[in-house]
Amino acid sequence: MNVKPFTDLARLCVHTITTRPLDIENAVEKYASLGVRGITVWREVFKTDKPRQVYKIIRRSGLETVSLCRGGFFPSVDKDERERAIADNLSALEEASELEAPLLVLVCGSDPLQSPKTSRNQIREGIEAILPSAGRLGVKLAIEPLHPVYADIRSAINTMKQANDMAGYFNSPWLGVAVDVYHVWWDEALQREIVRCGDNNNLFAFHICDWKVPTGDILFDRGLMGEGCIDLRQIRCWMEEAGFKGFCEVEIFSEIYWKTDQDEFLNKIIRTYLDFA
Ligand code: ZN
Repeated sequence: MNVKPFTDLARLCVHTITTRPLDIENAVEKYASLGVRGITVWREVFKTDKPRQVYKIIRRSGLETVSLCRGGFFPSVDKDERERAIADNLSALEEASELEAPLLVLVCGSDPLQSPKTSRNQIREGIEAILPSAGRLGVKLAIEPLHPVYADIRSAINTMKQANDMAGYFNSPWLGVAVDVYHVWWDEALQREIVRCGDNNNLFAFHICDWKVPTGDILFDRGLMGEGCIDLRQIRCWMEEAGFKGFCEVEIFSEIYWKTDQDEFLNKIIRTYLDFA
C-alpha cells in the first residue's frame, strides 16, 4: 500500500504539552482556528482548570478530545508507593471520564532499584487493579512503549512486543497500545508488531514527531515532523495497513520550540504534518 500525503487536517491532533506555554483556553482557540481537529489533554492542565471546565472549553470549540495523558508509573520497590500509584491512576480515569476522553495513555513506569522484569510484573498488577474501573467508566487504556533509554525510571515496557505481550495477557477490549514513533522507530520488529497489534484490535493511538540528529536532550529536544531520521510516512503506512484510522497526534516536548512564538510553531506543525506525516 502506498500512503499518500494528507491533503487536509481531518486527522491532525495536537497534545497540549506540545504548546506548553499556552493555557488551555488559548491552546484550544488556536488549534480550532487553524483547523486542527483533535486535542489530547495533559493532566498538568488540571492544575488550573478542573476537568469539567476543560471539557466545556473543548466542547465549545468543536475539537474532538482524543485522549488524556497520562497515567501509569506503577512500579516501585515500596508497596505504599505502588498503592499510591494505583490510586492516582483511578483518579486519572475519573478525570478522563469527566473530560469525556475515550482513552487514558499509560507511561507505565520503572524503578531502577529492581529489575525491569520485576517492574513489568508490578505494571501488570497495576493494570489489573485499574482495568475494571476503565471498563466501568468507558475509558480505554493504552500502553505506550518507551524508548529503552527511559528503562531506568520511566518505563520497563520498551518495545512494541512487550506492549503487545502485556495487552495480550489481559485480552481486554479496554486495553491496547499507543504507538509513539519517537520511542519505537528504531525497532527491527516494528512492522511485525504493528501488524500483530492491529490483528488484536489493539492499535489505540498514534503519536508523531521526529528524532533529531544529533539529539540535544533525550527528553526535551523532540523535532518537528521531517526534522530528523524517522520515516514517519512509512510507519503511518504500516499503521493504516494494520487497520488504524485514528488521529495522528503531534506530541513534541521541546525546550527550543516552547521558547518560540506559539502561533508560528503551530503553523510549522501544520506545514510539516502535511509534508511529512
Ligand atoms: Zn507519546
